[in-house]
Amino acid sequence: MSAATYDVVIVGAGIVGAACADECSRLGMRTAVVDQDVIGGGATAAGMGHIVVMDDSEAQFALTRYSQTLWQELRAQLPGDVEYEQCGTIWVAADDLEMTEVFRKRAYYSQRGVRVEVLGPDELARLESNLRKGLAGGLLVPEDGVLYPPCAARFLIERAQNQGATVHLGATVVRIASGQVQLANGTIVSAGTIINAAGTWAPLLTPGVAVKKRKGHLVITDHYPGFVRHQLVELGYLKSAHSVAADSVAFNVQPRQTGQLLIGSSRQYGAEHKEVDHDILRRMVQRAQEYLPALAQTSAIRVWTGFRAATPDKLPLIGPWPGDSTVYLATGHEGLGITTSLGTAKILAAQLTGSKCEIPSGPYLPLRGASLEHANV
Ligand SMILES: Cc1cc2nc3c(=O)[nH]c(=O)nc-3n(C[C@H](O)[C@H](O)[C@H](O)COP(=O)(O)OP(=O)(O)OC[C@H]3O[C@@H](n4cnc5c(N)ncnc54)[C@H](O)[C@@H]3O)c2cc1C
Repeated sequence: MSAATYDVVIVGAGIVGAACADECSRLGMRTAVVDQDVIGGGATAAGMGHIVVMDDSEAQFALTRYSQTLWQELRAQLPGDVEYEQCGTIWVAADDLEMTEVFRKRAYYSQRGVRVEVLGPDELARLESNLRKGLAGGLLVPEDGVLYPPCAARFLIERAQNQGATVHLGATVVRIASGQVQLANGTIVSAGTIINAAGTWAPLLTPGVAVKKRKGHLVITDHYPGFVRHQLVELGYLKSAHSVAADSVAFNVQPRQTGQLLIGSSRQYGAEHKEVDHDILRRMVQRAQEYLPALAQTSAIRVWTGFRAATPDKLPLIGPWPGDSTVYLATGHEGLGITTSLGTAKILAAQLTGSKCEIPSGPYLPLRGASLEHANV
């Protein structure tokens, strides 16, 4: 990499860095992307690719919904290997108590213009015949979708390159500060703005960033076309996603375009190694089989783990880093970074150009986190 000068240097070619590169180069900024590895080789390669609207908070809803509409707008341009499919999510309710959550979610989503449909037990069984009998119902969110994250990242990076961006892979950044990006080989690159989109590695380059690793496991099966037709998630998943301490598993199964089933999901803090944890894996698969008993007759072909970049308040860090006016953050997307990558890029670009974004950026500003650093995640 030459010691060139750029308007923007983005550290990280995961889905978030890729989306930022696409947006910055589209706006005419001289843009470079640097990654120590390959495109989409970090959490992006490990993620499930569920493009999902979530409602834990107004800010989470705003970013997921906005990003989902951006994915829908991009849909016609996505190549086949991105495997984008608007299959919808069904939030599965096991009992009457969970049905109260279905009705609460219906009210929340409908009031904010998201199409949803409450399913009774018969309708649920008709749509997903492999679900166990006796479930109470569910909530169908038809506009949710799925895609294959590494190819989506590659597509965004290629688009950025076509718009003039340069991409440097296999180049480790060791320091970012005062408009300078230093690589491990000693090269120093100058930039008006440096975007730290290094996912779980972000605190190594910007000490003090309140991001912790949250490990997840996924299993992919052999080909069983039609086994499930929607992304199926138990309502108990929300308990798992919200938990801040204990290891947790939840039923979360995705149909892939290939006919394979992607089975999740688990969440663990304090598990820093990427090795498969067989106890967690067993619990996760058992949970999935409780909902889909016929899974017991399917074959798994691969298991892997990945790390989500978790913040204490479950919202990403998007915007200027206090203390260095040249450094911006785009990290901390936890389990929603595939979904929210496009919205993140729009927010950052609006901040850099001083223009108005479709959604307010206040809830995601790193500054909100002055106290996050010491919070217990
Ligand atoms: C099991 C699991 C399931 C998930 N499921 C979903 C889902 O269904 N839907 C959803 O929306 N999200 C999901 N996620 C979350 C999603 O995968 C992440 O939020 C997203 O991939 C984060 O992207 P990123 O670009 O920020 O980080 P990454 O993809 O980790 O990219 C960071 C990049 O920075 C590079 N880098 C780091 N340090 C340096 C350095 N010093 N020099 C140069 N390069 C560097 C790395 O090599 C890496 O390529 C899931 C995550 C996991 C683990």
